[in-house]
Amino acid sequence: MNFHVVTIFPEICQAYTDASVLGRAQKTDKGKGAKVRGKKISVSYYNPRDFTIDKHHKVDERPYGGGPGMVMKAEPILKAWEKAVGRKKGKVKTLIMSPRGKKFDQPLAKKLAKSYEHIALISGRYEGIDDRVKKILKAEEVSVGDYVLTGGELPALTIIDAVAREIPGVLGTYESLEDQRPTSGVSYTRPDVLLWKGKKHPVPEVLLTGDQKKIDQFRTAE
Ligand code: SAH
Repeated sequence: MNFHVVTIFPEICQAYTDASVLGRAQKTDKGKGAKVRGKKISVSYYNPRDFTIDKHHKVDERPYGGGPGMVMKAEPILKAWEKAVGRKKGKVKTLIMSPRGKKFDQPLAKKLAKSYEHIALISGRYEGIDDRVKKILKAEEVSVGDYVLTGGELPALTIIDAVAREIPGVLGTYESLEDQRPTSGVSYTRPDVLLWKGKKHPVPEVLLTGDQKKIDQFRTAE
């Protein structure tokens, strides 16, 4: 899976995607035990500012019809998108981050992971993006929840993160997909008795018994 992020803040996004599980998934896995060899994902960034032609690299303008704030201009975003996926032959999906979009959820994450080779994610800022971008790119607007953020970077990262962990081999030996485990949910780790402000907090005893059947029953009940 290849993710292509269009954002005027690539550096804050890249710090996240280079770390931990997502960072590892972008490197070639030569480990003997690796079930799925090679790179599992790639994440590339395209800054609309780099596709402006004016001296000040302006990416926003005042809205037609009046109103507060600024709107992101269409052209720098279209050019950034073109550079990202314009010539890609594989299956490409373009998502525009928007609080008015279709609600992102786990089934959509699975579907995206299965159905596409390239996902372009366009992050807005200010009052949003010139609406013509959506039509021209035949893009789908996606929302990560019923709240309004200051930018589409966190939504784009949220989607990348949730889709990436559905790609075979992205999760390591410790992590595994929730629905492939008999149970998920609450978890405990060492110490078995936590001492906090004079009070003892033990883990549920059944987890220490080693009786896997009982443990699974307990977790399901939880
Ligand atoms: N007045 C605008 C709000 C823009 S918020 C409107 O009604 O659309 C600025 C940018 O943040 C948006 O362009 C979008 O990319 C992003 N954003 C904010 N909240 C979001 C959410 N819940 N889901 C996805 N993107 C969101």
